Amino acid sequence: MTRFVGLIGYPLKHSVSPAFQQAAFSHLGLDIRYEAWETERRDLRTTLEGMRDPSKLGANVTVPYKELVLPLLDDVSRDAHRIGAVNTIVNRGGMLAGFNTDGPGFLKALLQDGAFVPREKRAVLLGAGGAARAVGFALLEAGVSSLTIVNRTPERAEALAAALNAPGVGTVALPWADERVETALKGCDLLVNCTSVGLKGSSAEGQSPLEGSLIPRHALVYDLVYNPVETPLLAAARRVGARVLGGLPMLVYQGAASFELWTGKPAPVDIMMNAAKRAL
Ligand code: NAP
Repeated sequence: MTRFVGLIGYPLKHSVSPAFQQAAFSHLGLDIRYEAWETERRDLRTTLEGMRDPSKLGANVTVPYKELVLPLLDDVSRDAHRIGAVNTIVNRGGMLAGFNTDGPGFLKALLQDGAFVPREKRAVLLGAGGAARAVGFALLEAGVSSLTIVNRTPERAEALAAALNAPGVGTVALPWADERVETALKGCDLLVNCTSVGLKGSSAEGQSPLEGSLIPRHALVYDLVYNPVETPLLAAARRVGARVLGGLPMLVYQGAASFELWTGKPAPVDIMMNAAKRAL
């Protein structure tokens, strides 16, 4: 029997997940089809109900539903609950379980592809949406000494800083216009762009969240945006001599972790990486 995994979001036109997940299923000879389940808000509950069918193994969840699906699931992992967002659903005999693989994917890429060990390091996050929440918790668990969160909507940064509050870690929320942003940037070891600024197809396509003069040249500049592969922020960071890491390895590693949750088999990460590169 062919089984199905879907990607739930709206709209879905820029996703490369179907390409690299299908490549992984096909490589292992699994009779599984990965489909785009583009879902309008009013149909979200119906899409999830349909996932209880034995032919459905699970799904990925993307913008704008990562937070909205939580109350519609039977079980939510501790990490997904803390982050407040689910990016992976597994159908366990008709019961829907939610997980978040963004944090592990982010950290694996940071350690492996960025050769950066976060323990006792100072990090600045740009953005306070779902991705920033996953990144914030992952960095906290990895032992950073400070986290500065800079966001366009200050209340969202403050809510994240409050949620991340941990003994011994300086967690600060700042609006972009605050003069302390420049000081935090100058002193940081790791700068992570968790905004969608620079994302192809967004209203801020072609833009960088920071001008070159504010980019710390001694830091690792990590852009979660993976399309385009070389974002305006990464190009500007390279120009000032900073080390850079793009969002593609994280995308593939979070997808590989989802794959393992659905199938119980080790993900063929190299196959997935090559398929993702081809799809971009
Ligand atoms: P989200 O929840 O919608 O959050 C978007 C964030 O970007 C918010 O902080 C928002 O600020 C900020 N933002 C958007 N437009 C802006 C602008 N013009 N100027 C300044 N700030 C702006 O989205 P998300 O799920 O966190 O995703 C954020 C980015 O990460 C996306 O580009 C996504 O593709 C990428 N991502 C990559 C991976 C990966 O595996 N590489 C995984 C997850 C996400 P406000 O709060 O003020 O609206």
